[in-house]
Amino acid sequence: MSTHTADAPTEKATTPDNVYFRCFAGCGATFSLYDVVYRCPKCDSLLEVYHERDPLKQRNAYQWQRLFDSRASTTTWPYGSGVWGMREWVIPDLRDENIVSMCEGNTNLFWAERLGSQLGVPDLWIKLCGNSHTGSFKDLGMTVLVSVVKQMMAQENSPVKAVACASTGDTSAALAAYAAYAGIPAIIFLPAGKVSTAQLIQPVANGAHVLALDTDFDGCMKIVQEVTQDRSIYLANSMNSLRIEGQKTVGIEICRQFNWEVPDWIVIPVGNLGNISALHKGFRLMKDLGVIDRMPGLVAAQASQANPFYQSFKHGFESKTSITAEKTLANAIQIGNPVSYEKAVAAVKETGGVVEHATEQELADAAAKADLTGMFTCPHTGVALAVLEKLVKRGQIKREDRTVVVSTAHGLKFTDFKVDYHESTLESIASTYANPPAYLPASTDAVKKEIARRLQI
Ligand SMILES: *Cc1c(COP(=O)(O)O)cnc(C)c1O
Ligand SMILES: [Zn+2]
Repeated sequence: MSTHTADAPTEKATTPDNVYFRCFAGCGATFSLYDVVYRCPKCDSLLEVYHERDPLKQRNAYQWQRLFDSRASTTTWPYGSGVWGMREWVIPDLRDENIVSMCEGNTNLFWAERLGSQLGVPDLWIKLCGNSHTGSFKDLGMTVLVSVVKQMMAQENSPVKAVACASTGDTSAALAAYAAYAGIPAIIFLPAGKVSTAQLIQPVANGAHVLALDTDFDGCMKIVQEVTQDRSIYLANSMNSLRIEGQKTVGIEICRQFNWEVPDWIVIPVGNLGNISALHKGFRLMKDLGVIDRMPGLVAAQASQANPFYQSFKHGFESKTSITAEKTLANAIQIGNPVSYEKAVAAVKETGGVVEHATEQELADAAAKADLTGMFTCPHTGVALAVLEKLVKRGQIKREDRTVVVSTAHGLKFTDFKVDYHESTLESIASTYANPPAYLPASTDAVKKEIARRLQI
């Protein structure tokens, strides 16, 4: 696919010297972050944002830690954002006035004491990335991408007029919100009828141009790539590695929250494989700079209905598997042809990681079980928790291991899933932990009887 031959981006033209796009396959091609380029024109591989290490070594590990500690949750623009609090490691040369931020990141990492002891991993932590502006971790990547677009559009003769993405629901919510905040038009491609009501209404409310197509995510992805070929519409999918730069801050933030200690395992639900690649990239950078001295094992959790990465893993990553993804409650990971495959393979291999999958029954019960300990988990987090359970059972994750589950979205985006589970109306699923409300007459007697029956008092 040589979409940029006519007006090819100039190699290293306006590249900030130390941070630039480079070809992930290693052919040596580099581009400015402000070039409209998503893949290597030479070998069609993904690009990555590369930060040269030497300039970053001007601060030592201790100095970086103190700097980031000191900025966390402050109100000094733009450092109150978990992403821009690490701006030197993200996109250092963005001008303050072009940063499009709603103070994303700095999400809570909490000890899941009861759930952890039930599952046999008492040192279990949940990183609640869904406690964010649009209710998913996608905000972390979008603040970076939309900021770069704003800086591009501020340049003379910029071809970019709008941003666009295909989405399984959360990417579009984040893009629509950040684009609206910046005043940039957004075009959203959704698979009709395959996203939750909350996910559909977010870009609608934010004034995006919402196009619901009669296809699945992979079908939308194909069309958005064609529509964005002429460079006037900028592609915001995670193939665009600017998103990865923002998302990589999650791993760094987890370490900061643990006083710069590295957990043993991080379990994360995966679809297009951008987020696990981002997690890995953040840890890689910290390791190279001596901020940490080891990597956590990264566990990629897939829904069995959409498990191409699991299948590739089973075959020793001999080749990339692509499938037609089947319907899953975890709709944000219903992806059959994951874009960031090569990056995710490196993430699993270099960290001694694992790929595992979970059925619809397993993910629904795992989510419900977690909710009974005070959470309100989205189905994707259910996938991660079900996978965690499996790895603990087979002894791969040990009792003493410090384990973090990345909760990727807020459960309130998925109330249909919750309601159907507790009403026991989910197709082909037994609602093991259903807790439906009791409908009673307005009588003290009836109420007392019901309470006595339930509490056995
Ligand atoms: C996007 C998304 C994922 C998967 O992330 P990938 O980068 O596509 O692997 C998981 N959970 C939720 C809630 C998401 O929105
Ligand atoms: Zn290349």
